[in-house]
Amino acid sequence: MRPPSAEMATSHTCDFIVVGAGSAGCVLANRLSSNGKFNVLVLEAGPHDRKFWIQVPIGYGKTFYDRKVNWAYLTEPEAGLNNRVSYWPRGKITGGSSSINAMVYIRGQKEDYNAWRDMGNPDWGWNDVLPYFKKAETNSRGGDAYRGDSGPLYVNDASEHYHALCKTFIAAANEYGLPCNPDFNGASQEGAGLYQITTKDGLRMSASRAYLRPAAKRKNCMVETGAHVTRILFENNRAIGVEYVKKGRFVRALAYREVILSGGAINSPQLLQLSGIGPEKLLREHGIPVLCGNDAVGQNLQDHLAYTHYYRSKVPTLNNQLAPWWGKLWAGMQYLLFRQGPLSLSVNQAGGFFRSSPGRTSPNLQIYFAALTYVTSPPGERPLMRPDPYPAFQNAFSQCRPTSKGHLQIRSNDPFTHPRIQPNYLSTEQDIQEMVEGFEFLRSLSQTRALSGILDEEMTPGPAVHSATEIIEDIRNRSETVYHPTSTCRMGPDPQSFVVDSSLKVHGANGLRVVDASVFPVIVSGNTNAPVIMVAEKASDLILQDTQETSHRAGRRIDTAAIPTHKSA
Ligand SMILES: Cc1cc2nc3c(=O)[nH]c(=O)nc-3n(C[C@H](O)[C@H](O)[C@H](O)COP(=O)(O)OP(=O)(O)OC[C@H]3O[C@@H](n4cnc5c(N)ncnc54)[C@H](O)[C@@H]3O)c2cc1C
Repeated sequence: MRPPSAEMATSHTCDFIVVGAGSAGCVLANRLSSNGKFNVLVLEAGPHDRKFWIQVPIGYGKTFYDRKVNWAYLTEPEAGLNNRVSYWPRGKITGGSSSINAMVYIRGQKEDYNAWRDMGNPDWGWNDVLPYFKKAETNSRGGDAYRGDSGPLYVNDASEHYHALCKTFIAAANEYGLPCNPDFNGASQEGAGLYQITTKDGLRMSASRAYLRPAAKRKNCMVETGAHVTRILFENNRAIGVEYVKKGRFVRALAYREVILSGGAINSPQLLQLSGIGPEKLLREHGIPVLCGNDAVGQNLQDHLAYTHYYRSKVPTLNNQLAPWWGKLWAGMQYLLFRQGPLSLSVNQAGGFFRSSPGRTSPNLQIYFAALTYVTSPPGERPLMRPDPYPAFQNAFSQCRPTSKGHLQIRSNDPFTHPRIQPNYLSTEQDIQEMVEGFEFLRSLSQTRALSGILDEEMTPGPAVHSATEIIEDIRNRSETVYHPTSTCRMGPDPQSFVVDSSLKVHGANGLRVVDASVFPVIVSGNTNAPVIMVAEKASDLILQDTQETSHRAGRRIDTAAIPTHKSA
């Protein structure tokens, strides 16, 4: 590829540049352009999301390994997983990971956000963030003290279409002592129940559908796809634009007001490091001039790790519906004619939150029940439409607040080389202890009258896994990510140990913010899409408030000749 030159074309000059049209970027594009006063440019590395398997809810089985729409990251071998490499899908398409995710809508616990506040982030406690969760949402059940009724993101109660076995799972959980919870996003998260999902009229409700597509109709919101941002441009320590590659050519876009990184928990810290903001030693190693040394960039990586038990069933499951050719045909017709049936849903239909040991003040494990298995599918495939050819179901759990922390670092100054990702899963005693408690919970649940009545056998791990050593070994051998990386540019006051302040401005730089899952001070108790959208809703208000204080800057001249040209590798 041609290296960038001083004469590089400037494609756009605008007020705000948003890097990445993912869950957060789509919200920003919409809210920052809504009053018509500001020109917003959104740069997305992937393609537009108008694709069949992106719109069809169950299409996430198809996009899971599709590199045309997925960054398809691999971690380093993980000691805590017996040196296994973990596969990390991330959306590379408008809508970002919300275009390829499993659509479960969970906000987390109020204690999570109060912990964010107590880490030195005033205005990020539960009472501060709840209005933004509500602002984002239209809930199919209507609004109340907790739920929204007029936001762009439609959250659907699809329970009448869920598989009948979900009721058996809930009965088993009740027998075990977990109460029914009709709304995990209401007064309390604790209990067993049915998940609400981000779909509408049988189609995925990604952040692109909710926020970006309406915004892109405005004259002052421009979305460029296939635009891979390679570097932030600075005038002294002020971000004034970005350099990106489109169709093999380097291009430059300039921003009068701000550059906002919304590339997600992997790409935002990567882009900061490539642009000279990160651990000094690392940057020097790769020949990157240091603009602002900050060891926290790429640190504090957290993720949810799930562990699953698979059971052969005496009664029909989704496998019976979707494994035979005629079942697929029926499901396809149901979907194409009525936008209904299993293709219009997530496979994660039931679940819950519970405390795995007495003395805990709030739930510490999340459960996922699916009336479907795909253990016989070959490695490298996750065909939700090609399940096992016998009746079976699965029960999984993940920790709400794992304590293991990892990091990520660029491998070189080439923006197209994936960074080195080291999650350090299961590296604390507490995490191992909670996972073992989760294992025991799954076993106890399978012995309840409700589940043992329909259960033929525990296929995996099977009765041979029994002792504490065997259990830990199986957890290390089979646990997998639930695709929720966060906190690599975490928010907090101290510039030595945090990357952004509580306004999401990058410490040590001006005109630059990060808004995505990377700013979570710590991971939250549950799925991460709704919290990211909340963060971006709140960030939009913060950014627009700042424009009122800094209106004199609008239209300021950027000295393009002063922008240093990139030293190519
Ligand atoms: C398979 C899967 C299943 C999941 N299931 C659920 C679920 O059921 N419920 C839930 O709540 N959450 C789920 N999640 C997690 C959730 O979707 C993410 O936490 C959330 O979407 C992250 O939002 P984000 O804005 O931080 O990043 P993303 O949505 O990943 O957006 C980042 C965007 O930036 C773009 N980008 C990155 N680098 C550049 C660059 N250099 N130049 C230009 N563009 C760039 C990317 O292509 C992408 O579009 C799942 C995720 C995955 C992958």
